Amino acid sequence: MNKRNYDFFKKQIMTNEISKGMIIENLMDDYVGTDGYEKIDLFNLETVRKLSVHYKEILKLIGEDTEREGLLKTPERVSKAMQYFTHGYDLIPEEILASAMFKEDYKQMVLVKNIEIYSLCEHHMVPFFGKAHVAYIPNGYIVGLSKIPRIVDAFARRLQVQERLTTQIKDCIQNTLKPLGVAVVIEAQHMCMSMRGIQKQNSVTTTSDFTGAFLKEATRAEFIHLIGQNLH
Ligand code: ZN
Repeated sequence: MNKRNYDFFKKQIMTNEISKGMIIENLMDDYVGTDGYEKIDLFNLETVRKLSVHYKEILKLIGEDTEREGLLKTPERVSKAMQYFTHGYDLIPEEILASAMFKEDYKQMVLVKNIEIYSLCEHHMVPFFGKAHVAYIPNGYIVGLSKIPRIVDAFARRLQVQERLTTQIKDCIQNTLKPLGVAVVIEAQHMCMSMRGIQKQNSVTTTSDFTGAFLKEATRAEFIHLIGQNLH
């Protein structure tokens, strides 16, 4: 937590009716990046207020007593959580990548695997989660390795379908870094499949997308081999 973030939250504590306890809870819970790219306003208090009204109604509609102790602050908590789950809308993944591009002659595959993903399916707004494996072959430029998970997260923290998430990550890297090729594989479990409907609790969905050199059989085979142990 840097000073700017602290001052921001402090100001919110002074000027808003949202309880101090909740703000402090949030200060402790939320990850705030150190490289200047994580947005500091992980939740907007005005939005929290508006959302809370609706979540309270939802609680009533499902048959709950919104006045019982355990639920008093639930609408507020859910509102903040929902904003965190969707904070990717505030991020510009292309800018995150462009902020850390370095000229380099390396022309072999760069692979970042087992990137954790937490997203929400846009059809049911319940989580899907799993791992992403991302590779590219540089064409004059490499990117700071931490930026790959950052852009995966920027796209995942929105309402998504796994297929589009896969393609957006690929397109972002291809269009910004302009490498010789990009490969993205995502394997994820969808709670909307496990908890409802067909209740297939251990099924894993795998999606993939490739450009350039990865369209060639041999390059793709090398990539698949490298991530192989993680594929189900
Ligand atoms: Zn779903």
